[in-house]
Amino acid sequence: MQLNYIANASTPSSSGRTIPVIDPSDGQVFDEIQRSNAQDIDDAVHAARQCFDAVWSKVSAAERGRLLMKLSAKVAEHADELAAIEQRDCGKPTKQAKADALALVRYFEYYAGACDKLHGETIPYQDGYSVLTWREPHGVTGHIIPWNYPMQIFGRSVGGALAAGNVSVVKPAEDACLSLIRVAQLAAEVGFPAGAINIVTGYGHEVGDALARHPGIDHISFTGSPGVGTIIQQVAAERHCPVTLELGGKSPQIIFADADLDAAIPMVINAIVQNAGQTCSAGSRVLIDELIYEPLLERLGKAFEKLRVGPAILDLDVGPLIRQSQQQRVWDFLSDAQVAGIPMVAQGQIVDEAPETGFYQAPTLLRDVPVTHRLAQDEVFGPVLSAMSFRDEDHAVELANATRFGLVAGVWTRDGARQFRMAKRVRSGQVFINNYGAGGGVELPFGGVKSSGYGREKGFEALLGFTTLKTVAIRHG
Ligand code: NAD
Repeated sequence: MQLNYIANASTPSSSGRTIPVIDPSDGQVFDEIQRSNAQDIDDAVHAARQCFDAVWSKVSAAERGRLLMKLSAKVAEHADELAAIEQRDCGKPTKQAKADALALVRYFEYYAGACDKLHGETIPYQDGYSVLTWREPHGVTGHIIPWNYPMQIFGRSVGGALAAGNVSVVKPAEDACLSLIRVAQLAAEVGFPAGAINIVTGYGHEVGDALARHPGIDHISFTGSPGVGTIIQQVAAERHCPVTLELGGKSPQIIFADADLDAAIPMVINAIVQNAGQTCSAGSRVLIDELIYEPLLERLGKAFEKLRVGPAILDLDVGPLIRQSQQQRVWDFLSDAQVAGIPMVAQGQIVDEAPETGFYQAPTLLRDVPVTHRLAQDEVFGPVLSAMSFRDEDHAVELANATRFGLVAGVWTRDGARQFRMAKRVRSGQVFINNYGAGGGVELPFGGVKSSGYGREKGFEALLGFTTLKTVAIRHG
């Protein structure tokens, strides 16, 4: 049984209740986590506050950096163990689980190096004054984390917050807590003081809500669905608590007739099947120049048919979805497509070794999806790619911007001037030209516009969000 991790101690919830942990590859229960409540959040916030006041706020930036670097090394030592934990908990194919553990190593390394490079400025002002700004931590930051990339999102969110001098209370998703409990234990082993990183597990509407409402939380970093993002924003607004929202997307891959299709095709496919399509930045719409619509669909279809889906441990192209309700969600989208007469181009194959009790979905390519249909508007959060054609550049921009989201976009063209025009005209937090994701570099600021959220995580930019600016004006004559 897994316990909360509060003030560097494994702690049962005061509720005395637990939640079963299910392996998505076979649908079987293999562990349990604490079903925590508001009291547990209160305990964690109290521990965090004590740590901040008595210890962490007195630790120098350089020393914070050294600790984060030690944690990075410790996570690297335990990367295989952490990957195996995440694999079973989330159903990730081996390559993906390992990549996630190594991304966590890199986040801690990056933010370790950034700690002592974050500083304020001096401002020229009237004669007789000196004015300076200080970048101060918020204090106790709350982190609500989704189940799709627990380690990566912990790294970018908690890593940045600690680097900027905050202490943290973390609420992982009820479907994916195990790796983060282990990371918090490793942090204690390398010397993070009691209360710097606290993990409290449980349901969103119970413990997540308690965290968002707690008056001792000075900043909330929320990564999850747009619907819950709205709730968090409303709850935080009551006490004017600053919030960073990393929400979903319906990201387009825009392919012009002059594109290098040999380069584009594998990336278009990877961007929708990675993590079984359960990626906020999944390229879930492919917008294709009408001049190459038919031949490109044929090539994409052939590639889809070769994709194999099965248990995480087999390390195939696609693993299971996280849970049964997610599988049902994808089925609902696909049955809507059928009712609307949206043609299916191709599907991948679920292998025979996949247990019937696992949550599998074959990758599916749909064509001629009307721009107003929910398959072109809403996140499926599964391996379903919606294709549509465009007439010219203006039409491509219109389709790309025709959703409430704006997280990531990919543009494929050899025309240099068009590359810049498209990057300017597409409304999203990131635009990739002739690639998609640029390998996910931790240095690259990430976040959305419109309903994809606001604020940025990753990169140095994130540190600005994890601090508040104090202006100090000294009148010395
Ligand atoms: P979710 O919104 O259901 O849950 C996210 C987290 O919020 C979980 O920890 C959950 O327990 C908690 N939560 C749920 N209800 C809550 C409440 N009322 N108060 C406080 N906390 C609550 O999302 P999910 O299903 O876990 O993740 C999928 C969603 O996350 C997708 O929409 C995806 O696009 C988005 N996402 C976005 C990013 C990004 O960086 N933009 C990254 C990963 C996932």
